[in-house]
Amino acid sequence: MTDLEAERQRMVDEQIVRRGLTEPRLLAAMRAVPRHEFVPAEYLDYAYDDGPLPIGSGQTISQPYIVALMTHLLALRGVERVLEVGTGSGYQAAVLAHMAAEVHTVEILPELAEQARVSLNRLGLNNVHCHLADGSLGWPKAAPYEGILVAASAPDVPPPLLEQLADGGRLVLPVGGRLSQELVVVTRQGEKYERRTVLSVAFVPLRGVHGWKAGHFQ
Ligand code: SAH
Repeated sequence: MTDLEAERQRMVDEQIVRRGLTEPRLLAAMRAVPRHEFVPAEYLDYAYDDGPLPIGSGQTISQPYIVALMTHLLALRGVERVLEVGTGSGYQAAVLAHMAAEVHTVEILPELAEQARVSLNRLGLNNVHCHLADGSLGWPKAAPYEGILVAASAPDVPPPLLEQLADGGRLVLPVGGRLSQELVVVTRQGEKYERRTVLSVAFVPLRGVHGWKAGHFQ
């Protein structure tokens, strides 16, 4: 086992299991995906630390525990089609690729979308489809989705994502203010949407039609 692999196993034990996430398939995915392949070279030594890291363009790769928690909240069995909004580094998409049948991930910044595509291809994760677009509009072409995960914070739940959620599906996203938000799970039952709040989080802002308007970035 290399040092980085050993660090990754320790990350899962100390940051994920110890905080109460014990689902075997989730832990297997977190143990398998090399987070160090998704962080910039200068942060390699911190790849398995307990926090987010910069990935360029003012964006971040999420804290490992938050990636695990959001994945857990989708309650995936392995047969689902899933949408991620905010590809960033591609790390969360790689974890989802181990947990679902098919993953569509949408990124609005071309340089990040391209880099993520390279990283995901290198790992041979061919059930992930990367798209360069405004994900606040979802990705209608492959809808409906049994799971939707948004990795950037929205002022409110973007209506297109509710429309693209399959009956019985779950949408996990941070909703709230510009600096801090609540992690929300929306479950669809027919035309009824049940909403519950899980914990306080701090995500980078969602842009696009249903994201924060330009003035809010200052
Ligand atoms: N899931 C990522 C974390 C990404 S941070 C990872 O595992 O690394 C949030 C990302 O959302 C950023 O890359 C940002 O550019 C992207 N983003 C912001 N608004 C977006 C939008 N409207 N559509 C798609 N991506 C968006």
